[in-house]
Amino acid sequence: MRKPIIAGNWKMNNTIAEAQKLIGELKPLVADAAAEVVICVPYTAIQKAAELTAGSNIAVGAENVAWADKGAFTGEISAAMLKEVGATYVIIGHSERRQMFGETDETVRARTAQALKNGLKPIVCVGELLSERESGKTEEVVRRQTEGAFAGLTAADMENVVIAYEPVWAIGTGKTATAEQANETIAYIRSVVKNMFGAQVANALRIQYGGSMNPANATALMAQPDIDGGLIGGASLKAEDFAKVVKY
Ligand code: PEP
Repeated sequence: MRKPIIAGNWKMNNTIAEAQKLIGELKPLVADAAAEVVICVPYTAIQKAAELTAGSNIAVGAENVAWADKGAFTGEISAAMLKEVGATYVIIGHSERRQMFGETDETVRARTAQALKNGLKPIVCVGELLSERESGKTEEVVRRQTEGAFAGLTAADMENVVIAYEPVWAIGTGKTATAEQANETIAYIRSVVKNMFGAQVANALRIQYGGSMNPANATALMAQPDIDGGLIGGASLKAEDFAKVVKY
């Protein structure tokens, strides 16, 4: 029912020339993938990535979007600008942005609403810190982040949303949540969405796992009933590894 979606998050990696090489390698490897394939790339590489993937089964996304249409927001990129260069998805509220760049539940909400208003599909990240998991606050944290991100949206808006559950302690650390741990929290997030928007929206919503997902653990994670895909950092930078995750 829910089409799996595997998205790469390149973070601050790959110049245009490097993007060209990686996409050239990736395209044939994922051409017959059953899952939806997305690569979220640095702003400077979006246009080239969109050109190179045109007509293929790879969609291109950005890694953030401004909450305003235009104006005095030095360093920000608007949804219209992203659409103009060919982005269709956008990651919002990644833990690196929450931790290092002051992103809050409120800015995540505003960016998500802006993406949707402009026809970009947001991949909204939620997830707890290690200290929060260890003190039994995982559910409280992901509930606050989920309710915060989607406040004020409609059921129709939610059709275009993807959530990425990324326990912060598993990102880039080589530590993965067990498949059962990931599924348990994702099922909880789905229940929060159900409380907000009803069962139909919750059952249709795709929720990814993210955090050191790689070719070795993708099969077990994707076998879980509530895990509908992955947001892949490190392993998305090598075509062969990313393709193996895509084909889990
Ligand atoms: C991420 O950046 O969203 C991520 C999950 O990174 P990694 O796969 O490297 O842990």
